[in-house]
Order: sequence, then structure tokens, then C-alpha cells
Amino acid sequence: MVGRPGPMASEPLELVEREVPVPGPGEVLVRVEACGVCRTDLHLAEGDLAPRRPRTSPGHQVVGRVEGTGERVGVAWLRSTCGTCRYCRRGMENLCPRSTYTGWDADGGYAEYVVAPADYVYPLPGDRPAVELAPLLCAGIIGYRALARCDLPPGGRLGIYGFGASAHLTAQAAIAQGAVVHAVSRSAASRELALELGAASATGGPPPEPLDAAILFAPVGDLVPPALEALDRGGTLAVAGIHLTDVPVLNYERHLFRERTLRSVTANTRADGRAYLELALAHPPHVMAVPYAFEEADRALGDLAADRVNGAAVLVMA
Ligand SMILES: [Zn+2]
Ligand SMILES: [Zn+2]
Repeated sequence: MVGRPGPMASEPLELVEREVPVPGPGEVLVRVEACGVCRTDLHLAEGDLAPRRPRTSPGHQVVGRVEGTGERVGVAWLRSTCGTCRYCRRGMENLCPRSTYTGWDADGGYAEYVVAPADYVYPLPGDRPAVELAPLLCAGIIGYRALARCDLPPGGRLGIYGFGASAHLTAQAAIAQGAVVHAVSRSAASRELALELGAASATGGPPPEPLDAAILFAPVGDLVPPALEALDRGGTLAVAGIHLTDVPVLNYERHLFRERTLRSVTANTRADGRAYLELALAHPPHVMAVPYAFEEADRALGDLAADRVNGAAVLVMA
């Protein structure tokens, strides 16, 4: 769990012994098999996202078994919504002001057990390795929503900025739909991975042709102006992350005029989750999972902070 948030060098994660949590009404107790490591966990550990609850375990890409029934389920980021506000009523529960999140408002999956509302877990097949399923639950689902939000036309040219866990799954989903993908990453290993997965190019930037759409996965606001500038007329840039450093001043002519659009992506709805998982289970992507032992959560987050993870880091329970 996160003791005092701070840079990974200050060791914000603490390993503690706790009672097995008791599920409340409508909740299930899940024994964790694996939990994906997301950049949001790093933001929570380092304090880029203010804690909502002290001493909370991060982790929102949980694959495990429901105690009692043995059913395989996934526990993801969206933990609950109110169901009655104007956003919930119009199918935009990702914008619910009363939404809660796994690993932020309640203990998450960097633990042996996690409790989650039954209505918000996703059924998963029992016969696939947990380590390959875990990254689908946030990296996959959020990337899928970002892909929808960037309005990529059929067969269009898509730029992907930052090539980590979410990007490597999103690139595959886009290529499967016929997109031409250009990856921009400062990591040579990630650029190599992008090319292996079918990207048309992978560079340190800028991309080799104008783009119809782009997704910014790197949490770096400085990349917004060049990413907007690389868009073709009418193109859209979607920012996928929950946290972004400040965006520099934009120039209307260079960055926005000719109907270029800048959009954010905020969490996901359960409908996004179900749609993505259906797709990903029917046509499994190549998941570059990088396993870490449960006790090595701080090393996993440290590697993520230093761009040393090529693919998706996953904590695996012994
Ligand atoms: Zn996440
Ligand atoms: Zn609501």
C-alpha cells in the first residue's frame, strides 16, 4: 500500500500484513492471481494524483477467482458509479461525479485479496494465463476508449505517442481495424516493439506523414503542441492518461486551426470494458507481459518511472 506518496526513490510503497477483507452487500471477495501495473499506480504512489484515502493499496488490473464460487473475474479501475446522475443516465458513467476507483477510493490488487462490487467486475475465461489477461483490464480498455475518442477514420493514419502497456495493445487493435500506425517513442526498445507489432514507422518523432488522428499516452504536456502540429486537417488528438504535465501555450494557426481537435479521455464505462474484452478475448492481442513477483511492486513501479518496462508490467502472486 502507499504510505506517504513521493518519488519512487523515497520508497512510498510499504508491504503490510492485513486481515482478509470482508465483502459487503453486493460485493465479491477475489483472491488475486495477478495484477497489472499501470502508470496511474505510479501517479498514486508518487503523489501526482492526490490520495483519496490514506494507506490504500493501488492496482486496478486484477485477475483472480471469486472466493466461494471460483469464478474467474477481472477487477478494473471503475469501481462504482451512482447510476442516477445526468451523466450516468445518458450512458456516460465514466463522467459520474460520484464514481469511485479501485486502488484510489478502495484497496486495489497489489494484495492477496481484493473486494469489489459484483456489478463492476468482468467475467474472464478460466483457461488463459492471468499474466496475459491482467493488462487488458486498464491498458487495453482505456486504450480502446482512447481509440474511439480520437475519431480515426477507416484506414486512417494514427500516431501513437509513448509506447508502453496501453499503446502496445491499442496499436494492435488499430492495425486490426486497418489503420496505419506511426509510433513515436524515446525508447529504442519500445520503437522496436512497435515495428514488431506492425507499426508502419517508429521514430523519436515527428511522424513521417500527416496524421488523421493521434493518441498521447506519455504523460507529457510538452508533446501536445508537436502532436497537434503533426495532425492533418480535421485531425483529432486524444490524451489518454489521467494525469498530464502542463500543456505549453498553443498557437492557434500552428496547432488548432483547420479544425484540429484536442480531447481528453476520462476513465471508461462498463460498456467500453465489455466491448473491449469481447474483442480481445475473441482475437487475443500479443501481450508483452513483464512479470514481477508480488513483493517486487516497488521495483516494477521504479522500472515504469524510468521507462525500463517494454510492454506491460504485471505483479504475479506466488
Ligand atoms: Zn490504469
Ligand atoms: Zn452518476
